[in-house]
Parts: sequence; structure tokens; C-alpha cells
Amino acid sequence: MPRTTTVNFPGSARHHTIPTGLHVNGEWIDLEDTFDVVDPATGEAFASVSDGTKAHARAALDAAHAAQTSWADLAPRVRGDLAHAVHRLLIERADAFIDLMVLESGKPRSEAIGEMALTLDFVKWLAEQAAHVHGSFSRGSRGNFRIIATTQPVGPSLLISPWNFPLLVPGRKVAAALAAGCTAILKPAEQTPLTSALLMQTIVDAGIPPGVINLVHTTRPGELSTELMGDQRLRKVSFTGSISVGSLMMSQAARNIISVQLELGGNSPFIVLDDADVQTAVAECVAAKFRNAGQACVAANRIILQRRIAEEFTELFVDEVRKLVVGPGYRQGVDVGPMISEKQRHAISRTVEKVSAEKADALVGGKPIGGDGYFFEPTVLAMRDTAPEFSCQELFAPVAPLYVVDSIDEAVAFANATRYGLAAYLFTRNISRAVCISDRLDVGMVGVNRGLMADPAAPFGGIKSSGLGREGGQHALEDFLETKYIALTTD
Ligand code: NAD
Repeated sequence: MPRTTTVNFPGSARHHTIPTGLHVNGEWIDLEDTFDVVDPATGEAFASVSDGTKAHARAALDAAHAAQTSWADLAPRVRGDLAHAVHRLLIERADAFIDLMVLESGKPRSEAIGEMALTLDFVKWLAEQAAHVHGSFSRGSRGNFRIIATTQPVGPSLLISPWNFPLLVPGRKVAAALAAGCTAILKPAEQTPLTSALLMQTIVDAGIPPGVINLVHTTRPGELSTELMGDQRLRKVSFTGSISVGSLMMSQAARNIISVQLELGGNSPFIVLDDADVQTAVAECVAAKFRNAGQACVAANRIILQRRIAEEFTELFVDEVRKLVVGPGYRQGVDVGPMISEKQRHAISRTVEKVSAEKADALVGGKPIGGDGYFFEPTVLAMRDTAPEFSCQELFAPVAPLYVVDSIDEAVAFANATRYGLAAYLFTRNISRAVCISDRLDVGMVGVNRGLMADPAAPFGGIKSSGLGREGGQHALEDFLETKYIALTTD
């Protein structure tokens, strides 16, 4: 029997039994070396999982490589059906996934419910794509042969995920790999291994063959990636996380020309023009900023207000932020949970202290909250200038800096003055302004009059240093496929 841990959900009679080992080639592997899983709302460890080594990573690649041909050879419809079976079991286990996300990442239960729903949408969408991979057939330019352009799975893939969306990110990577016909090694974030462990159990129970998806937890991710990226059998890395690690992935991938998909950080401008519906902009901004305690790659990071509506927006926004309830995600009525760690909380405390002393007035909050856990006050800063050393950073915290500008040109120039290019938000009632300004924003995604935009039918991803490739949309599987050209003599 694999080793398991029983997780009790505070304030309820619910408890969930989760395997704590690695999963390689259809077997759970339990190790003596373990690491703790901490509840960020208390700072207390509540479980521990096996801590894999590079030898386990290699064993996982052996398994993924061995399973690749038979998985790719399965009829696309059969692979799609298996992915649909994962989807059905995810629905059955939704309560357990929601509870684990709340406990491991600290997010409020309402947000975990939303993440569950979005994950289900992605898995279903991707399962549907398995049987919809197309190619083309045409004549060569001299007319003496035919061109067949077809696709094949890129091959064994390394899927690395962060802690802030502990189910959505691993779930959509795994589903895309399965649908495209790739085998994979999933390496979840150290902070949120249990959600991925339950996902792995679900994949097993859905009947996905041994070796197709493997799971390796580790506190030494650098050793794992060095081992795997140095092995020619690995053909792809799909990474979501920070720019620094993403850039390392790219350099490691260069050695064996491994395909790279990167979803990295953001520094999203949230632009409110003087013709906007200010109340809608405020409501959407609260969601885009404070969801996940500001720890989302697409979080509004710089709120840019055209002068004529700045005062009205600021008053309404401050009122809404004052109403936000901070507390453990498992407590009813909570809007903002803790930050993920003391390290992150300390970093934002210092940043806010420094910028407040020189370039900003704190209208609400600004400080860590005493007591257990890693809570930080929802904060609104009125910025006195653009403070480049501050505005160029991804805050990744419940901190909303407001900047006032006089013109659209000024708003666009400030919005683009960053190495990041993930998302932007734009509020205006004028549709042609919306289209023209969206064209000028250097980002992969623009939310017009909305603060949330993830959808399986949409291509999610960034430009500039925010990443390469897209997850979702028409191109959802492309990153896991290679094009093959067959020249067919017909004369
Ligand atoms: P991180 O880069 O520190 O960690 C992400 C993952 O990379 C974790 O699984 C970690 O174990 C692994 N990792 C760390 N060092 C590694 C190494 N040397 N080799 C291989 N893997 C390694 O990021 P984080 O702090 O967990 O997440 C926050 C960052 O992720 C933010 O910048 C955020 O914007 C970004 N993010 C982006 C998206 C997106 O879709 N664009 C989504 C969520 C988070």
C-alpha cells in the first residue's frame, strides 16, 4: 500500500486521504527523505511528502520514454476518452481538490471553487481537442509531387508548475500533453504537492497507462531539471513560474534543442480612461488585484488612471478595499488569504515601506498583520510619480499602486515601460479606442472592461520576458506537437 496522509479540513468534518510518494512507471514510491507542507494561514506544517532526487527524475524519464510510442500510437479518440475519464473523476473529487488548494496555497474557498471550475473547463476542452488535430495535403510548387504536412507528439515532456494555481496549471499542462500524445513528468511546486498528488491519483484511477504521466516531488528542482534537460530523450519543457527560472530553463534547453513553453511573470497595467464606467472598473480592479492575495501572474500591478476620473475611482476603490475581509481561506466570508510564505511577506513589507517613505502615500493598509500566518493588509498606494524602480517590479502581493496620467499616450508609454508583457486591462466605453489602444499595448492578452479573462478557448500567454507559447485556444495542442512533412511522388 502506498504511504498516505489524512488531511482534515478545518471547521468541517471533511478529511481526505492523499498519497505522499512519487509516482513513477505506475508505482507509488515512498522515501525516507520527506519535506513538510505548510498551511500559510498558520505557518504550521500539516503533512509531508517524499523528497525525490535526480535518480528518481531519471527513472521518471525512463518510464515516460518507454511509454511514449504506445501512448502516441493510441487512436486520438481513445486518448481523448481517457482524458474525459480524468475529467469525470475530477468532478467526483472536486471537494477534496478545493480543500487541498485552500490548505496548501491559502486561497479563499470561493477562489478555489473558481479554480476547480476553470480546471474542469480546460481539461474538458483539451480532451475534446485530442481528436481534432489536423494536417494538410497539397501539390509541390513544380507540380510533380504532393506535400503531406502532418503532426506527431513532440515526445516526453517536463511539466513544472508554481504554487499559486496548484490545480489549474498542472491540470492544463497534463491534459494538453495527454491529448497531444505526449508522455510527461510533472514536477509541482514544493509548497503545493498534495493537490498534484491527488491529480496523479486521479490520472491513475482514470486508467491512463503506467509511465504516461509521472510525478516527482523535490526540494532540489535545479538538480532535477539539470538531470532531465541534459538527456536527449526529453523533448519538451512546459514551465510556469518566475522569469529567472524560466530563463534558466531556456538556457538548459539550448543544449539539446528542447522545445520550450514558458508562462512567466507579469506586471499588468490596469488602465482606466476618462470615458470609462468607473464603478465597473473599480469592481473589476478589486478582483484583478486582490484575487489570490495579489499572487497571480495576471494580477493588476499598476493601476493607471486618466486624471478626470482619478479622484472618483480612488474614492470608490479605497471604500471597496476597506471592506475586504482578510483571514484563512477556510473561514467563511474571507476575501483575501495569506501570502504564501514569510519570505514573500517580508519582501513586500520592505518594498512598501521604502516606496511609502519616498514616493507614495498609503491610503489603506501598508503593513504585515501580526499573529499566526503570513497575512498582509490589503493596501492602496497613491503614487506621487512613476517610481521606475518600484513600478518595474512584479509585486505579487495585495498591494495596489495608483498612478495618475494626463493622456492616452502617457498611459500607453507607462504601460509598456517594463520588461514584462503578459496581460493588460483597459476600461473605456469607446470601442475603437479599445481596439487601437489594445494594438499599442506590448502584451499577450488585453482584458477590455473586464478584470478576469482566463478561458480554455482563449490563447493564454505573454510576450517580451513574460514567456513563449500559449496554453489554451485553437493552439492548445500545438506546443506539444511537431510538424512532419512527407514528400509523396505522384508521377
Ligand atoms: P518559481 O520560478 O520560483 O517556481 C516555479 C516552479 O519552478 C516551482 O515548481 C519550482 O520548484 C520550480 N523551480 C525553481 N527553481 C528551479 C530550477 N532551478 N529548475 C527547475 N525548476 C525550478 O516561481 P514561484 O515563486 O513558484 O511562482 C511565482 C512566479 O510564477 C511569478 O513570477 C508568477 O508571475 C509566475 N506565474 C506565471 C503564470 C503564467 O501563466 N504566466 C502563472 C502562475 C505563476
